[in-house]
Amino acid sequence: MKYVSTRGGMEPQSFSDILLEGLATDGGLAIPQQVPQVSAQMLESWRPLSYPELAAQVLGLFVDDIPAEDLARLTQAAYAPGVFASEDVVPVKPLKGSLSLLGLSEGPTLAFKDMAMQFLGQVFEYVLQRRGTTLNVVGATSGDTGSAAEYALKGKKGVSVFMLSPHGRMSAFQRAQMYSLQDANIFNVAVEGVFDDCQDIVKALAGDLAFKEQYRLGAVNSINWARISAQIVYYFWGWLRATTGPGQQVSFAVPSGNFGNILSGHMARKMGLPIRRLVLATNENNVLEEFFRTGIYRPRSAADTHATSSPSMDISRASNFERFVFDLVGQDASEVRRLWDELGGKGYFDLSSHQPEFESKYGFVAGASSHADRLATIRRVHQETGVLIDPHTADGVKVAEAYLEDGIPMLALETALPAKFGETILEATGKLAPVPAHLAGLDSLPQRVDVLPNDAERVRQYVRERAQV
Ligand SMILES: *Cc1c(COP(=O)(O)O)cnc(C)c1O
Repeated sequence: MKYVSTRGGMEPQSFSDILLEGLATDGGLAIPQQVPQVSAQMLESWRPLSYPELAAQVLGLFVDDIPAEDLARLTQAAYAPGVFASEDVVPVKPLKGSLSLLGLSEGPTLAFKDMAMQFLGQVFEYVLQRRGTTLNVVGATSGDTGSAAEYALKGKKGVSVFMLSPHGRMSAFQRAQMYSLQDANIFNVAVEGVFDDCQDIVKALAGDLAFKEQYRLGAVNSINWARISAQIVYYFWGWLRATTGPGQQVSFAVPSGNFGNILSGHMARKMGLPIRRLVLATNENNVLEEFFRTGIYRPRSAADTHATSSPSMDISRASNFERFVFDLVGQDASEVRRLWDELGGKGYFDLSSHQPEFESKYGFVAGASSHADRLATIRRVHQETGVLIDPHTADGVKVAEAYLEDGIPMLALETALPAKFGETILEATGKLAPVPAHLAGLDSLPQRVDVLPNDAERVRQYVRERAQV
């Protein structure tokens, strides 16, 4: 299987080729030429597998140019017992009734980004060594991608990481996690702007093809297809844990920002996994909720992006959304190009004629959550079940509760652990969230970060002076 672009202008490429690229050469996003199908029989045969074994099976359907035994070795290393705190890697934690948490935050940085990033770290090193080349990863983070990428790539041969984060917009814990890394191949850049500004700078650098080629820029942001494919695995895992036999349906609730996580759920559903609903949850930055409610996609400017208490979802332009729109418009690349042209001109596009299909054909429903909702949900879930959830997970749980159905398990994706967002947990419960023992004292470590103005030229110069050549 090969990969093509949502805009139709890229020759088919292999998994390893798109692994090292960000945007497709025509400005679109890489997508598989055909979506592999998983039969009920195949699915049942996967029940006894461990998480790394399942990952090798699911990823094997998307990786066309890595031998199966090598891939199995990479997933074993990515999801090794020492890397994830839970023996299951991804535990399912019952909350009440049909509602459970899918524990995606047992990795080194306590957020679901580790699920994809640990695999990416392994497969990057593997492909770079095989090709005898190096890579400079330039990325933007609203908090969790950056630390997950840095923890997955620190000390890896042939890769340097330049991670742009919005200055002053991350939690103290997130800052301590990223900025305390002292590895020589890790560079933290705090940009005086919001997340979307950081993302624009990354786009500007990657869009300069001469610069990109000379410095071999690579991407680890959520448009990276390897991340999307690694995330598909846990939808299969969650389904296998929540069901006992073929054909049973499961719904998933997904705290969303860049539309990466839930896109993986959409892919799993297209592959034939019996998913009833994909419940998309946003915070006050509700561009996606608005789209699923109205069919109008109207991204907002950086100035109109609220800084909320679920900061990893403070995104007003969902970089993966184009992959879903591609399906919505019948995989018509010229229509995707037209819509994005329209977006550039008018600031929105209107797919309201497709709105009835969002749920009936694709299983998508959506809701938004506010700061008050988050606090109330954290407090209530804690009182009722004794389980402490983080603010992002709370957004998901809040919206999930509106879509519970008898007899259908609802898995709310736990996208971070509460320890990462101590301020909000304190506000909600009056107590600080427990910090895992191995992370105690993190905030007193020396931090390494360079603050730069919101200016692509300055960042380009910074990378030029430090890149691996
Ligand atoms: C990144 C992130 C999200 C949003 O995921 P997307 O793939 O961008 O939709 C939600 N919660 C947490 C904790 C995150 O780190």
